[in-house]
Order: sequence, then structure tokens, then C-alpha cells
Amino acid sequence: MSAKASITKYSDIVSVALNGEEMLLSLLYDVSEDGTYTEGVFAVSRHRLCVVENGRLVLAENIENIEKVCLGEYTGGGILEAFTVKGRKQLVRFSMKHIEEFTSVCEIINDLAKGLEPVINEKAFAEDRVCPKCGRAYIKNTTVCTHCSDKFSVFKKLFKIAKPYKGLYITLLLLFWITSIVTVVTPILSKHLINDVLNIKNASITTLLIIVGLMLLTTVISMVVSVIRSIISSKASNLLVKDLRNHIYEKLQKMPLSYIEEKKTGDLMQRINNDTQRIQTFIQDIAIMAVNEICLFIAIAVITVYLDAKMSLLIFLPMPIALYLIGKIRLNIRSRYHKQWRKMDKMTNRLTEVLNGIKVVKVFGREDDEINRFKKTAGDVRNITCANEKYVYTIFPIIKFIMGFGAYLVLLFGGNKVLSGSMSVGELVQFSTYGGYLYSRLEWFSMLPRHFTMALVSSQRVFEVLEEEEQLDGDIKASADKAEGSFTFDNVSFGYKSYRRVLKNIEESVKKGEMIGLVGHSGAGKSTMINLIMRLYSPDRGKILLDGSDISEYNQQDYKNLLGVVLQESYLFSGSILDNLKYAAPKATLEDCIIAAKKANAHDFIMELPDGYNTYVGEKGYKLSGGERQRISIARAIVANPKILILDEATASVDSDTELKIQDALKKVTKGKTVFAIAHRLSTLKNADRLFVLDNGKIAETGTHKELLEKNGIYASLLRAQQEMATRGVTIDNSDKIKEEITPTQFINEGEEFDNEQD
Ligand code: ATP
Repeated sequence: MSAKASITKYSDIVSVALNGEEMLLSLLYDVSEDGTYTEGVFAVSRHRLCVVENGRLVLAENIENIEKVCLGEYTGGGILEAFTVKGRKQLVRFSMKHIEEFTSVCEIINDLAKGLEPVINEKAFAEDRVCPKCGRAYIKNTTVCTHCSDKFSVFKKLFKIAKPYKGLYITLLLLFWITSIVTVVTPILSKHLINDVLNIKNASITTLLIIVGLMLLTTVISMVVSVIRSIISSKASNLLVKDLRNHIYEKLQKMPLSYIEEKKTGDLMQRINNDTQRIQTFIQDIAIMAVNEICLFIAIAVITVYLDAKMSLLIFLPMPIALYLIGKIRLNIRSRYHKQWRKMDKMTNRLTEVLNGIKVVKVFGREDDEINRFKKTAGDVRNITCANEKYVYTIFPIIKFIMGFGAYLVLLFGGNKVLSGSMSVGELVQFSTYGGYLYSRLEWFSMLPRHFTMALVSSQRVFEVLEEEEQLDGDIKASADKAEGSFTFDNVSFGYKSYRRVLKNIEESVKKGEMIGLVGHSGAGKSTMINLIMRLYSPDRGKILLDGSDISEYNQQDYKNLLGVVLQESYLFSGSILDNLKYAAPKATLEDCIIAAKKANAHDFIMELPDGYNTYVGEKGYKLSGGERQRISIARAIVANPKILILDEATASVDSDTELKIQDALKKVTKGKTVFAIAHRLSTLKNADRLFVLDNGKIAETGTHKELLEKNGIYASLLRAQQEMATRGVTIDNSDKIKEEITPTQFINEGEEFDNEQD
């Protein structure tokens, strides 16, 4: 049963337990007090919380009696505990799949207990992966339920996107109508050919010529119309798909980084390439034709009833059985195709992952394993595709036979009428031709649900991306023009996952023009801190202020224009070196780029490349060394003369000689700018105005290099460790430090340590 359904089931008991207060949140848990699996609901209002298990109220508590709540852990699960005036009390137990939700619950109750306004983190309470209405599983990686989704609304959205091309679609409909008229007229001509020419002795040759001429004309019209129709429908559908692809791409560019990271690259590529392709095929080959065919089917059915009502009944006699069977197998086919798509998704994702990491595969000599793994996945896809096709290719001829059975009845009954003289041969041929048309259309209609479902699922997958909430600018209250570069971190906390805090309650100020070095063990949160400064993520709690205004109050683009960034991964796009240098400042001139390249000590090696600044680099271009790429990315960061510089391992991949030159260059370009720099080689940050030493998500020490050495704390020990390794002739970074095993609970409750209770 879905979460919502279970919660609704207990809503009366919950409502009484919460004294009728409005529920702030409710969620399912699955482990009872004695550790067995159960089904229960945990609900919180502003002043009360309660636990209802198997329809029975287990616990209700006033939040004002609670000092704080915290999470504990046992093997495979967690416990939410409350500290009250009377002591410690277990509130609820749950399996690890609920850890994220209960971490947020824990924070919310603690806020309520302190009388603060709780922050309800939506990402922790994401809907179940099943449809709350019907309990069926969503299509993988989506929140789409094919059963409950409003099919019309999806196609309405598609029509809205197709609106600019409505002229083309109307032309297509008209062309289809010409084909339809030809379809209706041809059997009439056949009837006249048989009755008025072939069946009559000494029939006039003129009549024969007219009828055959008309038949030829209808065929030519049909052929010409079909060619024009195909060209227009291909144009219309391609235009629509181009728009859809542009919309998705535009949307993805505007989405927060966390959204892109959550989705798999393969899945997003699938939506941009395959789903839009399926929509195109549906529109081009099916949708418009379906409208026409349905109208034509009705028209021909009416004509057959008009020609001979009794005989037309014979045509339709087997249809209810055929339709019943089609209805039955439709669901089966749908679930079969979903399974097939899931397997294909898996294959695409693996392929993308392996191709991206091909170097790792080769370095570790895992080619054979990868080949075997891919063979298995490709084999799974083959098996399921073959099984599905076998099913479809067997079942549909059977249905076709049942559906077409009426044709034999028509021949028997009609033939008898011809023998008794109450029907002419021409009329029988005309009637059978219409009957044949109705059967072939019915057969085509029977495939329609399959095409329809495929297009529906693809459209929903596409619209799911298009309708995601964008990362919009909030209220723009601050002007980047006046920004000087002083920063304040006001109680900033952040976690990529809501149950795992990476930064905790960061409180610091940075003066304009100050150079801050961020140091600490690997995984301490240095890159995360600059990710927040760069607005790639937003703090879960607290604010980052630039010159007194929350950075979210600046226009995104204006804010980003203030920053110059050199990242650990110096990624260059396919294009010339000049294109890459201008990436951050499209208006920069060649001269600006050369000045920046000289400052970054990149000019000399660029000039030695085959085409100098026009040398093509990137995936298919000239391969640059890590150090060269790094120097280009430093030059790219300083081309726009930004007020704030962010250097994440700016000198990581350069030799000591080049490092010295870059250090010297950086000293010049950082003058007067606020700088946040991360470096594993601590000696490179000696000249920073201040160092922030991050430890386990908190700023443990601050001060100059000298002050921190005198303090003899974490920084001094990190430096000593590095110097020791250096004298032993080994270059290390502090990522070699053994990182403590971190359990999710260590990040919970504003740094509160977890009770590692073992079950
Ligand atoms: P290093 O010196 O090794 O680069 P760091 O101090 O810069 O480390 P961060 O990169 O800020 O550390 O990472 C802090 C923690 O956040 C790590 O435990 C890391 O696993 C986690 N983390 C980083 N990026 C993500 C992400 N995109 N999603 C989830 N967790 C992440």
C-alpha cells in the first residue's frame, strides 16, 4: 500500500492524538519497538507528536516536554529518541531507507522544541516511488504513473508546443481527406467495372476506358498526395522535436546542479534523444493518421450499413471478441515494454558510465570484466526484446484472424445472395472491399494503444523535465555593480543529502581584498564551502552575505560575473584555446586573452602549439598536459578581471618550477581581490592573509600561517605530516590521511554525536 493511503487510513487516530492540530508532517515507519517489521505512522503538529502502529495509538507526546530529540543507529536501521525531563525515551524505529526523512524530522522537532520556525526540507520528503493514488510503481526515474496520469493533459501540452506549426498540421489533415475520398471511391469504381463492363456482353469500350482512367487517376492522386504528405509530416514532426529538444536543453542549463547530479547522465540523454524521437515517430506516422483513420472508419461503417445492414452485422460480429482480447493484452504489453525500457536504460547508463571512465577501466585492466558485464546487460535486453516481439508477433495474427473472420461470413452470405440474384457481383466486391478496409483499420487500431502508450510515457518523461522547478532568482534586492567583496557566513549549514551534514554552523567574516586559504583533511568540506560561495548549491540553513546582502539576492548572472574560478578539474570545451579563454568573458578581446595568458604563464607554451591561440583543444582536439590545461583555466578565470577569485587546487597539476611562476602570477592577479583558495600543498597558502582550517564540517582554527603554527593545532600537525613525507621523498596530499568512518548520524542534530546503539 502507498504511504499516503496508509496515512489516510489512520488519519482519525492521528488527528485525535494531535489534539486536532494541523499536521505539519506525517510519514511511515516500518520497524516496531521489538525490532520486527510493522506498518506505522509518525506524525507531528506544532505542539504534539504521535506514533500510530497497526491502527493503534502507541505514543503521543507534547513537544514542550521534549528538550531535544536525536537519532541513534542500530544495524540496518535507526531510532528516533527524545530527551525529556523524565529521561530518555524511544519514539520510533525505522529501517535505513527512512533515514533521510527521519533526519529532517529530527531537526524539525528540535526547532519546534526550541520555539523556532521549522525548516521543512522538501527533498527529504520526496514522494514514494509508487503512485499515491493507485499504489502502482512509477516509471523508473520519474514520478509518472501511466495508470493515473491525465493522458489528455499530456497531449494537450504537446499540442501547445506544436501550435506554431498548426498550418502544417491542418494541411496534413486536408491531404489525408483527399486520400480518404480516394479510398471510398475506389470500390465504387470496381463495382461499376464489374457490373457495367465485365458482366455485360458487348459493353461499351468508352465506359471501360472511363472507369480504368478514373481508377488510374485515383491511384496517381493517392501517390502524389502520399509523397507530399510524407514530406510535410516529416517537416512538422522534426520542427516539433527540435523545439522539444531545445526546451529540455534550456531547462537543464537552468536547473540546480543537485538536480543534474541526482539524475543519471544516461537517463537525461535518453530523454533528449530517444524520448523525443519516439514522440516524433508517433506524430509523424501515427497521430495525424489516427484522427483521419477514425473518421474514415466511421464513414465506411455507415456506408456498409447503408448498402446492406444485415451483411454489415456479419462484418462486426467477431469484433467484440477481438476488442475484448485487445483490451486484455494491452496491459500485458504495457508492462512488458516498461520492463524492456528499464533494461535499455540500464544498458545506456552503464555504457555512458564506462565510456566516461574508460581510462580507469584500462588502467585497472578491467576490460574483460566490462565486456562480460556489458554482454550480460545486452543479453538481458535481447532476451526481453525477443520475448516481447515473440509475444506481439504471435498474439496479433491470432487477433487479426478472429477480427477478419467476418469476411468469410460476408462471402458466404453475399455469395448466396448473388446466386439467388438479389445482389450483383459488383456489389459483393464493393462490399467486401469496404469490409477488408474495416478489418485492416481495426488491426491498425489494435496497435494504436501500444504506440499511444509509448508516446505517452515518452511525453511524460519529457514534460517531467520541462516542468521541474527552475533555479530562479529570488527577490533581486542587491546590485552586483556596487559589490566590493566582503563575505559573512552567518550560521551556514549544508549537506548534499539531508541526512548528512557536510558543513555545520559556519560563522566567519571575510574582509574585501582578503585572501583566505581553506585547508583541512580530505572530505572536510573545503570544496563544499566554495560550492556554496559559487551558488552551485544553497545552504540548508543560514546565509552567505556579500557586502551585507544574501548572495541569493543578487541576480545569478551578475553574481557569477563577479567570480573568477579555477577548479580542480580544469575542463576545456572542444574549440580553440581562444574560445576557451573567452568562455567566462565572451566580450574579451584577443589582447585581453593574451595578457591573461601571460599572467598565468601560459602564453609561451600556447605560442609553441601548432596554431597558437587558434589551436583546437577539447575532446577531439590537441591534447594538453594537466599543467597546461590548469594554466589555461587560470587565464580563463582572470580574463574578465573578476572581483572575487576562487582557486580550487589551482596549482595541483604543475611542477614545482611552474608552480612558483603561477604563485608569482597569482600574487599579482589576486591583489585587491577577495580570494578563496584551496591547496593540498599547504606551503602554497603560506602567503594567505588568513587560513580557515576545516575539520569535520566546522571551522576549527583560523589565523595566519604563523599564528596557526604557534597554536600547534590541526594545521600545524597537517603541515608537519606533509613536511615529514616530503623529506622522505614522497609527495602526498592530505587525502592520504585515513578518513574516519562517518555514520550518517554524526551529522545530525547540529553536530550532536550519535548514539551507536547496536541491536
Ligand atoms: P578534498 O580535499 O578531498 O577535495 P574537501 O575538503 O574539498 O575534500 P568536499 O569535496 O567539500 O571535501 O566534500 C565534503 C564531503 O561531501 C565529502 O564527504 C564528500 O563525499 C561529500 N560530497 C562532496 N560532493 C558531493 C556531492 N555532489 N554529493 C554528495 N556528497 C558529496
